[in-house]
Amino acid sequence: MKVPIDEARVIDLDAPTVPAHERIVNSARRYVFDCPHCRRPHFHGPADGHREAHCDDSASPYWRSGYNLALVEPDNG
Ligand SMILES: [Zn+2]
Repeated sequence: MKVPIDEARVIDLDAPTVPAHERIVNSARRYVFDCPHCRRPHFHGPADGHREAHCDDSASPYWRSGYNLALVEPDNG
């Protein structure tokens, strides 16, 4: 079930939530998720919410569900 979190974004309650880290890629802010299935980083636009998977593993469960990106605050300790 998809639930709006603001005017543009949703989360999908049936999809897993995964940790994202902010990176600058070619001068653009991106959210990066290190995928445990294809073991490669997935790059997304810089916002929390539900995304289609960009997975290189054709057996990845993310192809069916997508996932909810959630930004993990940087650990400055
Ligand atoms: Zn992947």
